[in-house]
Amino acid sequence: MYNPTSFSHISPQSDSPALSMNYCSHCGTAVTLCIPQGDSLPRHVCPACGTIHYQNPKVVVGAIPEWGDSVLLCRRAIEPRHGFWTLPSGFMENRETTAEAAARETLEEACARVEISRLFALIDVPHISQVHLVYRARLLDLDFAPGSESLEVRLFREQDIPWDEIAFRSITMALRLYYADRSRGDYGFHVDTIPAPTGEHYTPPPDPPFV
Ligand SMILES: [Zn+2]
Repeated sequence: MYNPTSFSHISPQSDSPALSMNYCSHCGTAVTLCIPQGDSLPRHVCPACGTIHYQNPKVVVGAIPEWGDSVLLCRRAIEPRHGFWTLPSGFMENRETTAEAAARETLEEACARVEISRLFALIDVPHISQVHLVYRARLLDLDFAPGSESLEVRLFREQDIPWDEIAFRSITMALRLYYADRSRGDYGFHVDTIPAPTGEHYTPPPDPPFV
């Protein structure tokens, strides 16, 4: 039987990196937020069945679909950032590889078939507990169209990229790195970090969006 006295309890108001959770997904009992014995971070713990609900970063995977000197961008039909442009990208699903995720997202959002090539960038987004991976990809044909999450799908040359209308900072970063490499004629592999917004105190949303 689970013994709650072995835990040091923490109030839900404390400065915790944990996302909100109310009930145990194993047995349905209300969970408590506490630091389990031998651990160092607050976790949602079930007082009935003892399950510790670990929360870990999510992986977001995207593709840079290339066609000649153009890349394919999608204009988002969903929040967050409805109406803004992005590379095809999204959360990994279970039981797929990162390359499969990049190809799947490109098919879902742009109805486009790609051959995934090199991993181009790894972008840490620690303030929302995400890791973004961006692959280069070769567009196999021009038979693309908006998927259900896109308003519009278009090829852009570098000079036409709508920099002020890019949905997320990691996408802007990946595209900047991409065009810098392309101008040098040598594509590398990049590791970078998106810092938390500065200025006013930043409170992560309960269910972090892709930034
Ligand atoms: Zn439980």
